[in-house]
Amino acid sequence: MRNLLSGLVWIFLYLAFCLAPLALIIGQDNPPGRPFLVEFSVALGFVGLSVLALQFALIARFQTVAAPFGIDALLKFHVQITFFGLGFALVHPILLFLADPKYLPLLNLATAPWRARFAFTSVIALLVLVVISLWRRRLRVSYEVWHISHSILAVAVVLFALLHASLVGFYVVGIVRHVVYDAYIGGLIFLLLWIRVLSPIGRYRRPWSVVEVRPEYGNASTLVVEPVGHPGFRFDPGQFGWIAVGRSPFSMTQHPFSFSSAADTPEGGTISITIKAAGDYTRTIPSVRPGTRVYLDGPHGVFSMDRRQAPGYVFIAGGVGVTPFVSMLTTMKERGDVRPVTLFYASPRWDEVILRDQLAELDAALPNLTVVHVLSRPDPGWAGESGRITAELLRRHLPPQFRRYEHLICGSTQMMDAMEDALVEVGVPPSRISSERFDMV
Ligand SMILES: Cc1cc2nc3c(=O)[nH]c(=O)nc-3n(C[C@H](O)[C@H](O)[C@H](O)COP(=O)(O)OP(=O)(O)OC[C@H]3O[C@@H](n4cnc5c(N)ncnc54)[C@H](O)[C@@H]3O)c2cc1C
Repeated sequence: MRNLLSGLVWIFLYLAFCLAPLALIIGQDNPPGRPFLVEFSVALGFVGLSVLALQFALIARFQTVAAPFGIDALLKFHVQITFFGLGFALVHPILLFLADPKYLPLLNLATAPWRARFAFTSVIALLVLVVISLWRRRLRVSYEVWHISHSILAVAVVLFALLHASLVGFYVVGIVRHVVYDAYIGGLIFLLLWIRVLSPIGRYRRPWSVVEVRPEYGNASTLVVEPVGHPGFRFDPGQFGWIAVGRSPFSMTQHPFSFSSAADTPEGGTISITIKAAGDYTRTIPSVRPGTRVYLDGPHGVFSMDRRQAPGYVFIAGGVGVTPFVSMLTTMKERGDVRPVTLFYASPRWDEVILRDQLAELDAALPNLTVVHVLSRPDPGWAGESGRITAELLRRHLPPQFRRYEHLICGSTQMMDAMEDALVEVGVPPSRISSERFDMV
């Protein structure tokens, strides 16, 4: 209930901030004799600018804002709403040109005034940002290069749009308008400071240290970290954090990883993260030494059994997607939670089953846990399930009351799409299915 109310408040505030610049236009001393289409175009331009400026608030990882929705949902919204910002940014000049051809010469950058050049640069930066983000993998742009260019382009888009609005000047003069406009610019500067300076300072003052690096099956390693000089934090089982290992908290890129240990961490207790070597950064994890400094931004996310109370659970994991489930099961063990759980776990081969030993211990300790290993390339002699997890395979192992249970899925995008369909096919209501995507960007 609290989450629902605070979610509604944040949605209201978001809409209010998006539309607030329209207050700049509703006034007494508007330029006389301008056609409606011009005024409408300007209104769209201001709303577009607001939407794009608010993008920084969506990615600022404010825990109170993210709590009702989950940071992953906010990031998804951040991506989708960009298209509205882009639409407004493109329709704004198109309407101007349609309203009055006298604006057309502004397209000639050689002779155009600076206010038009800034607008043009802002729109071009936005188009480049969208193209690189949509086709990052196809363009073979690494995550790190994308992230840095995305950050620079995003600031450029908003900065040049603000300069454009200032130089046009119509709606940003007069005391009230000045206050609104300056408050917007102040808010934007605060957001940038928060993201790049204040939030990293907070992490810098709460460092963690590596106590153990444990090799795991499946080309993975578990990092065990402990808080240094602060009590650490507790989290909901299934949540994740952004982690910088051996890097400054001010570094541009941090990587998201789920916590794989029990959630109810005592004060000063350790937290574990299990990382599969998937790329240039994760491949460095096995060579991390005990004592290495780590900075943790978290906990984040809403993919947790604590958020989806039910008489029982069905978990479906693919590869390293098992980590949040190991955290949930370990937490259940520590809490003495005896609700029934069936875990379907897809791996290529038995020797690549990540956290296999921990799962065997949990299986022995939790009387109501059933683990169904499914191997896609089993070695000869494997007596368990093989191939892909399908609706047919699910039917063979699901307990009779499964429709009343919550179903949580974590794995590759391909697998998760297939599992969402398979669960619906066997009769699970879509409202009882939730998933965590490890490739949210
Ligand atoms: C919510 C969440 C929880 C995750 N939990 C785990 C976990 O418990 N264990 C685990 O092994 N992996 C987890 N991942 C995936 C992990 O973050 C990526 O595999 C890792 O960041 C890849 O980094 P790389 O440079 O080694 O690989 P690359 O080859 O550079 O990247 C592979 C892909 O990983 C993604 N990625 C890379 N860097 C980042 C970044 N800084 N931020 C976000 N995505 C990135 C991109 O989609 C990229 O295409 C999780 C991801 C998310 C979103």
